[in-house]
Amino acid sequence: MFHIHSIRWRIAIPYILLILLTMTGLGMYLSDLVRSAYLADLQAQLTAEARLVADVLAPALAPGEPGATFDVAARRYADLLGARVTIIGLDGTVLGESHEDRTQMDNHLLRPEVQQALDGGPGSSIRYSRTVGYDMLYVAVPMPAAGQTVGIARVALPLRQIQNHVTRLQWTILLAALLAGLGATGLAVFIAARTARPIHQLTEVVQQMTAGDLDARLLPVTADEVGTLAQAFNQMADRLRDTITTLTEERGRLDAVLDNLADGVVITNGAGRIRLINPAAARLLGTDTASALGRSFAQVARDHRIIDLWQQCVAQCAEQASPVELDRQRLFLHVVVAPQPGAEPGTCLVILQDLTRVRRLETVRRDFISNISHELRTPLASLKALVDTLRDGALADPPAAQRFLNHMDRELDALTQMVRELLELARIESGQVPFRLAPTPVADVVLPAVERLRPQADRAGLQLTVDLPADLPPVLADAERIRQVVTNLVHNALKFTPAGGAVSVTATAGAGEVVIAVRDTGVGIPAEDLARIFERFYKADRARAGGGTGLGLAIAKHIVQGHDGRIWVESREGQGSTFRFALPIAG
Ligand code: ADP
Repeated sequence: MFHIHSIRWRIAIPYILLILLTMTGLGMYLSDLVRSAYLADLQAQLTAEARLVADVLAPALAPGEPGATFDVAARRYADLLGARVTIIGLDGTVLGESHEDRTQMDNHLLRPEVQQALDGGPGSSIRYSRTVGYDMLYVAVPMPAAGQTVGIARVALPLRQIQNHVTRLQWTILLAALLAGLGATGLAVFIAARTARPIHQLTEVVQQMTAGDLDARLLPVTADEVGTLAQAFNQMADRLRDTITTLTEERGRLDAVLDNLADGVVITNGAGRIRLINPAAARLLGTDTASALGRSFAQVARDHRIIDLWQQCVAQCAEQASPVELDRQRLFLHVVVAPQPGAEPGTCLVILQDLTRVRRLETVRRDFISNISHELRTPLASLKALVDTLRDGALADPPAAQRFLNHMDRELDALTQMVRELLELARIESGQVPFRLAPTPVADVVLPAVERLRPQADRAGLQLTVDLPADLPPVLADAERIRQVVTNLVHNALKFTPAGGAVSVTATAGAGEVVIAVRDTGVGIPAEDLARIFERFYKADRARAGGGTGLGLAIAKHIVQGHDGRIWVESREGQGSTFRFALPIAG
């Protein structure tokens, strides 16, 4: 993968640039050096050659000699030396020339090499020769004869040769630079790749860990810094895994606690949105956890008193607590809103304690006490009145005294009955009397109870029927107690059904249980009383309840529950009621 920003190329490219720069600089310097060396060499050689030519031809130029021409001599030396040879007079006239037509050439007095030679030393110059059409190296020396200069001998070579040499050298250097550059680039890339490899491996492992594989580790292959890094990384990964595992476990525990907590717990963030809500809170607020998460607290809580408490907590940054009664859901809550120091400002913990049951128990207890006082007051007041009457003279009238005594006896019987029922209930509730559970045919518990009440049904002008399927399985029951339940239910049915009505007792086998139903066509029970009908002393219709204590159904409920059974009622006011209880099938 070629990516210019990858660490491999970031390491490699500067190296490559450095190598290229070095090679270019070196190449330029070397070709320049070679060129200068060549030139110096050539210059020395040409100077020697020019000296030779000067020495040979000088005598012919001595003053007094006829103005000779040196073309032939120049050509001959040119052939011998492989160079161009020119003989120039002191006035600049070309006296002999090996390669050109001398008559066409200009005066050479002002040529730099000629000037230098006239000054006494060998002169040299490189320039473009218009005569031949390319760069030439000229070397000129004075021609001494009899102690004085008589002319200038000039030898010239085309520089093409040098240029060729230099060019060849430049190509060689270029090739070498290219090869070296290529090799160095390869090496740089290789080294860079090796250097970057641990980083790639590290990236891969980190990506695996991010994807959830907490066991991904680096292989510590080397003993250098990379090895140390791998080791340190692995240690960090171990710590991280341990921490995450611990956190996950703790989170799981917390979730389990929150899920099973009876109290509702809600945590809201600074923006007033729900960050956490447990099932109990969702149930109490009439929502579900999934849809409540992320929504605003006000939207979910809906009740203005709860929202007010929460807003006060946010505003004052202090714990708020208050009881809140949700009439709609018939819930009684104790709401505590506490700020969360250390968390994002505005974060609140809301705790919803469901005190509905406690409240109801309190009400039941209060009602129980007021009921029992009420129940006791009437017979006691009646007894007191009877005793007073007797004392005030009724004793003197024996028949009246007898009537009063009978009346007192009935009141005492009623009181005794009530106290017995209360004691019974208390003993059942406290579990003091263990049930003697045994497989019992349903007929054994239903028929005796019904038959005992048949005279009462006849007297009241009510039709009392029993319908038990023949194949009913036996139930696991304490026969004596269940008979009492049936008696209570049938007795109630008779009591609350006007003359001409009907009471029927039926039984059906269900999944693992037998359901016994007592149905009547009587007055029924108002809907608002249905929920409390099984409470002690609860009487739906006080006027009609007459002599009842309100304990019958409470006793029935406790007996059935002691059998691991259920008891419930369906009723419409004015249309009759159906009480049902289910008992487990024996075996
Ligand atoms: P009690 O001894 O007063 O009958 P129970 O606990 O047996 O006490 O019954 C409680 C109340 O439930 C009764 O006072 C009556 O108002 C109502 N009730 C019970 N059974 C029936 C029924 N079959 N029809 C109508 N009301 C009933």
